[in-house]
Amino acid sequence: MKIIDLINQGGQFISLEFFPPKSRSDWPVFFQTVQRLATLKPLFASVTYGAGGSTNADSLEIVTRLQNEFNLETMAHLTCIGSTPEEIHAFLNSLTDAGVTNVLALRGDLPQEQGEVPALSSTLQHGSDLVSLIKNAFPAMGICAAAYPETHPEATSTEADRAFLKLKLDNGADCAITQLFFDNNLYHTFVQQSRESGITRPILPGILPVVSLKVIKRIISLCGASIPKDFLSQLEEADRTGGAAAVQKIGIAHARTQIRELLASGVAGVHIYTLNRAEVVFELLEGIELGQ
Ligand SMILES: Cc1cc2nc3c(=O)[nH]c(=O)nc-3n(C[C@H](O)[C@H](O)[C@H](O)COP(=O)(O)OP(=O)(O)OC[C@H]3O[C@@H](n4cnc5c(N)ncnc54)[C@H](O)[C@@H]3O)c2cc1C
Repeated sequence: MKIIDLINQGGQFISLEFFPPKSRSDWPVFFQTVQRLATLKPLFASVTYGAGGSTNADSLEIVTRLQNEFNLETMAHLTCIGSTPEEIHAFLNSLTDAGVTNVLALRGDLPQEQGEVPALSSTLQHGSDLVSLIKNAFPAMGICAAAYPETHPEATSTEADRAFLKLKLDNGADCAITQLFFDNNLYHTFVQQSRESGITRPILPGILPVVSLKVIKRIISLCGASIPKDFLSQLEEADRTGGAAAVQKIGIAHARTQIRELLASGVAGVHIYTLNRAEVVFELLEGIELGQ
């Protein structure tokens, strides 16, 4: 079922994002994690694509198993940069055969190494191009797109970035999921400005619990999100005095406060970057109640 149809049934929800483990030997533990987190009854689960060194075949197999063995409505992330339309069609055909009916349509990141030229497909250069392809060739697919409350790092301006988000939605995306953010005001302002720009579809907030200072600093440097000064000071102080466990405690508490406030403000749901860590997600959602 398309995720937008599930959202439109009403009631607040959580959704969970997983990434395929790099090594197949980690898959049994990964699927145990999925099984545990499935008890939270997320509206949907999503699986990243190509990120962190995983292969596209890994993503496809994991998406298929989440959909069919774990009965999770599953959304496959799909990036188009460096892929031909034929490769994209083949992946979407495999999803269709597996009964997966939702895709997060992404451009993907440009290679970091200097001098490496991305093999740009002539027709699939942006997320909006992939959305159009899916909408036209696979009309039964539910489509989500990525949104950036703090503006995508390569964007020429905030306004241009918002216009390109609108293009993705106008081309056929049913809803958007945001990049992580640590200050809810950024999300609320972004949604308000998006509405003023004529964007009407749901923009789901993506929330990441910080579990490591080093890792979050690296993520932040790559994705263009920011950490509020106070929160960063708390994390650094925790790291100095209590180490990794103390950082995780502060990180989870911050994300829990964000989720509480977002739900109270009336968002349809919250998308959680699980980091494949069941115990972190359970702790994060302690005491959180979803509205009907
Ligand atoms: C929720 C979420 C999940 C993600 N999952 C993954 C994943 O699984 N795997 C992965 O590799 N990456 C993932 N990413 C990262 C994503 O691939 C990168 O952020 C990527 O750099 C941009 O993808 P996009 O689809 O938003 O690109 P686009 O929408 O194409 O935007 C990229 C840049 O181009 C500009 N732009 C857009 N359209 C046009 C146009 N027509 N003309 C000129 N400029 C344009 C935008 O302003 C922006 O600066 C995810 C991001 C989010 C928010």
